Amino acid sequence: MIEALASAESPARRVMRRLDEFARFSDEERALTRLYLSNAHRDAAKQFIAWCAESGLNAKIDASGNVWARYEGAKPGAPALMLGSHIDTVRNAGRYDGNLGALAALAVVEALTATRERLDHAVEIVAFGDEEGVRFPTTLTGSRALAGLFVRAALDQKDADGVTMRDALVAFGCDPEGVGALRGRNIASFVELHIEQGPVLESENLAVGVVTAINGATRLHARVIGLAGHSGAVPMGLRRDALAAAAEMMLLIEARARIEDDLVGTVGRVDVEPGAVNVIPGEVRFTVDIRAPRDEQRRRAVSDISKRLSAIAATRRVELVLTQTHDAGAYTCHPSVISALQASVERVSKAPARLLPSGAGHDTMVMGQLCPAGMLFVRCKGGISHNPEESVTIEDVEVGLATLIDFTRHFQANPKRSG
Ligand SMILES: [Zn+2]
Repeated sequence: MIEALASAESPARRVMRRLDEFARFSDEERALTRLYLSNAHRDAAKQFIAWCAESGLNAKIDASGNVWARYEGAKPGAPALMLGSHIDTVRNAGRYDGNLGALAALAVVEALTATRERLDHAVEIVAFGDEEGVRFPTTLTGSRALAGLFVRAALDQKDADGVTMRDALVAFGCDPEGVGALRGRNIASFVELHIEQGPVLESENLAVGVVTAINGATRLHARVIGLAGHSGAVPMGLRRDALAAAAEMMLLIEARARIEDDLVGTVGRVDVEPGAVNVIPGEVRFTVDIRAPRDEQRRRAVSDISKRLSAIAATRRVELVLTQTHDAGAYTCHPSVISALQASVERVSKAPARLLPSGAGHDTMVMGQLCPAGMLFVRCKGGISHNPEESVTIEDVEVGLATLIDFTRHFQANPKRSG
């Protein structure tokens, strides 16, 4: 190998190094937790802007806390291909979910600036501030704002410390009143590179795959109210045990989800009160997350589960308060983006592209309301995500970047073919 090449940092290595550096921006000492509009988010946004500046890109933070930059096309004002993902994380996260896609977007522009290559279209990159929805009871704030779908009422939502999103935005240096007016203009397509978060690519020994659709999701919050009492003094027949009732409800949710392919149902959080060894639980609160690639399938399951939980509550003489906290329809990736990504995968990998649905929600499904959108998945170890064990190889990142760069170079903002 030529010496100069051997010593230069490859784009994939640079992305991996930056991901390691980025992982330091955390709200917690010993784990990666980067919540929307937190200090760690601000530091990460500043670092992203600094990396953009290295290749002459003038990145800015928009009214909702997204970092955004534009690499102009051959003609100023050309329609843009937008690339990006999110830089917020769950608690105790891995370093690749979201962050890999944001840094890959920057790497694509760096590949172009390195040779001063101008395309017919512009390339815009974005690092969304809130995809995970951990801090406030909403998700996808950044992409919603950019897609013109931000709901003003979200500004009044509070985090666990009682801070409203409005105040958090102001503290971050953003203008809450400007979020509603952010809608992206002249964006021809949006494409997000993301780790798969599932085991399919690994099981088939593939570096990348093209996403066909993103599951819709409904989240419920259940509150089961029974009657607390002495564990020794209240006979079994006279109890209104909130936890035993909740347990039956959870098994019902699992059983209902199991009977249909592609449908998944999860109870991920349970709080029991008073939570003592010698007290019959008086109140239980738990979350329900139901997802499916087809909306009508998901709606049927949600309605079914709601009815059956009420029946369990009635039989067990406990009160059930079921509240829907989130509802997002399934998104079918745009056929033009799917086929263009497919062609890029085939050019780069010299093998047929694997098409697969996404079980997890992504910014892409929101951006798809604004413009044609799609996703490229990169294999992750064991399909593990939302976990510090999250892992990708530099070889797979290299394939992912090469595919995204190829896609960007071949992208046509106004495809001549109609239909
Ligand atoms: Zn993500």
